[in-house]
Amino acid sequence: MGIAWSRTVLADERRLSAAELARRVAAPGFGEVTTEHVVSCRWSAEREWHDAEVLPYQPVPMDPAMAGLHYGQVVFEGLKAYRQPDGAVAAFRAVEHAERFRRSAARLAMPEPPVELFLESLAELVAADRRWVPADDSQSLYLRPVLYGTDASLALRPAAGYRLLVLALVVENFFGTDAPPVSVWAGSRYARASVGGTGEAKCAGNYAGAFAAQVEAAEHGCRQVVWLDAAEHRWVEEMGAMNIFFCYGDRLVTPPLSGTLLPGITRASVLALAADLGLTVEERRVSLADWRADATSGAMTEAFACGTAAVVTPIGRVVERDGGFAVGTGPVAGRLLAALTDVQRGRVEDVRGWRYRLAE
Ligand SMILES: *Cc1c(COP(=O)(O)O)cnc(C)c1O
Repeated sequence: MGIAWSRTVLADERRLSAAELARRVAAPGFGEVTTEHVVSCRWSAEREWHDAEVLPYQPVPMDPAMAGLHYGQVVFEGLKAYRQPDGAVAAFRAVEHAERFRRSAARLAMPEPPVELFLESLAELVAADRRWVPADDSQSLYLRPVLYGTDASLALRPAAGYRLLVLALVVENFFGTDAPPVSVWAGSRYARASVGGTGEAKCAGNYAGAFAAQVEAAEHGCRQVVWLDAAEHRWVEEMGAMNIFFCYGDRLVTPPLSGTLLPGITRASVLALAADLGLTVEERRVSLADWRADATSGAMTEAFACGTAAVVTPIGRVVERDGGFAVGTGPVAGRLLAALTDVQRGRVEDVRGWRYRLAE
């Protein structure tokens, strides 16, 4: 489609000094440290995608009646880019993220950004903020495309105008480096998603709806929530904003994509890599009662969550209203984490074409 890009990048003397940049990324956490540029693009029915720009990072103006703000017509993506051994910058499975972004947009009755526009946006941003791509193995560049309805109207219909922004952030592992296994709260007061709802879409409102459960988890001394299905409060679906896996020795089990799970790209990657490690995989439902019984008997040897932010994170304990149980730890989560990060960081051959080179 060949959209025309306008680029307003900071002159060298207006960029942060190397010392200030180093200070900001010294302990970036997750979500705090943005780079110096942002990508913006607009959509209208008459002009489709237009005004594609790279701009210095800055606040964006907002009409108080903006549709996205009032009605939550907001979808986003999250993917990571890594410096490669040859100095290039590659994003992990960028095309799959672009395709999911389109599905999320369609679910919220928004225009679907072309895959090519998504990929070009990432490349433009990385070109402008190249020096922010971490060299350190404990960090990565997190890319956050977000699309929202911009109409200044409270009319109850899909907006007529949209804006796509792409931000880049320097992040370290979501749970910190060398995080111990997390403890998770399995309550039944809240549900994340129900059949026919928006659980499969990466929309902002799903996160807002999950925060109360996260607060409840913290009150029970847990860092994360286990989501059970909304209909029966019985089947384990996800952990926080991550997909979940159970290990029975070298057999890997994960809940199927029933329509209420977010189809994680890390989940799909773990399923593919498992075969390389001699693990068998099975997509089937696991109830909280099965989890408790199997973890207690020792048949279930490990459980872990996975997602772009946290990659692979072992689960150490499940806390329930009247008790809880310990979950074993073993080698599988660590082996999968290593296999995944080896592909992401360019340490092994890219046999599946998962690395998308954004800059040479
Ligand atoms: C983003 C997300 C995931 C993980 O998806 P990845 O593509 O692996 O990052 C899992 N569950 C929910 C609810 C999410 O929003």
